[in-house]
Amino acid sequence: MSGALGGKVAIVTGASRGIGKGIALELGAAGATVYATARSTNEADHPLPGTIGATAHEVDELGGTGIAVALDHRDDAAVEALFDRVLAEHGHLDVLVNNAFIVTDQLTSGLPFWEADVSNWDDMIDVGTRSAYVASVFAARAMVRANAGLIANVSSSGAEEYAWQVAYGVGKCALDRITADTAHELAAHGVSVVSVWPGFVRTERIDVGAAMGLLPDSLDLSTSESPRFMGRAVVALATDDDVARWSGTAVSARDLADEYGFTDVDGNLPAGPLRHRTT
Ligand code: NDP
Repeated sequence: MSGALGGKVAIVTGASRGIGKGIALELGAAGATVYATARSTNEADHPLPGTIGATAHEVDELGGTGIAVALDHRDDAAVEALFDRVLAEHGHLDVLVNNAFIVTDQLTSGLPFWEADVSNWDDMIDVGTRSAYVASVFAARAMVRANAGLIANVSSSGAEEYAWQVAYGVGKCALDRITADTAHELAAHGVSVVSVWPGFVRTERIDVGAAMGLLPDSLDLSTSESPRFMGRAVVALATDDDVARWSGTAVSARDLADEYGFTDVDGNLPAGPLRHRTT
């Protein structure tokens, strides 16, 4: 129960690797009980490293309580069962982080929309936008009853400017609209909703790509952020008694670092999303 989030319960979707894992670890380090969802339960399940079990174990090691929940965020019934389980086990849910996202094989291919597979739309809208809406429905039912709670949506500057693919930007724009409109309806119920934009994050995908010499020249690792930087941003929001001042907005982790005074794990401040870059 120690730590700023001792006694608090969080769900982080898509937490087997990447930014979701980084957020789960920081919530755990702050003392929270963290339900970490994703599909990978064995290393063989995905070409990139990471499982929900490993995330839950690292949450435990950092002082929190990690609980691995294997589910596909395309399965609404499984998602509803997760929220039922959390409420049965704890009686409350304090934080939902909507992070699960399908990074499609063609996302960074440079293919224009008319040459890319239409399935890019389905994958990135189903898991990333629709999945955030569905989880928000179940979280809001619990949070409205408690008259408290935070929903953080992991979005992107792609909501406001071209990034990678048409379907990517549309999905992020819609996600930020979900943030604004769910925040509007939840404002009278003590529940805040914030979109948080990462910068360029050194996830397992980037580590593997860099090791193979496959990163595009446009990606500058020296200004990148660790996955835990986003976690620190979410913890800053979750521990702010006045978090409602952000509700309905989209804000970068870098802007939150300036506001709350945290740094990345190496003590440095990353560059933040594209709009922060001056060159
Ligand atoms: P990763 O691919 O590294 O992680 C995605 C996570 O989502 C994994 O844990 C994956 O687990 C999970 N996931 C994917 N599909 C499903 C599914 N159907 N059901 C349940 N879980 C699923 O992505 P990132 O960490 O890079 O990105 C996370 C978010 O951050 C995305 O919304 C992305 O747009 C955003 N973002 C990322 C940036 C970056 O630099 N990385 C920059 C700006 C925004 P599993 O495969 O085990 O199911």
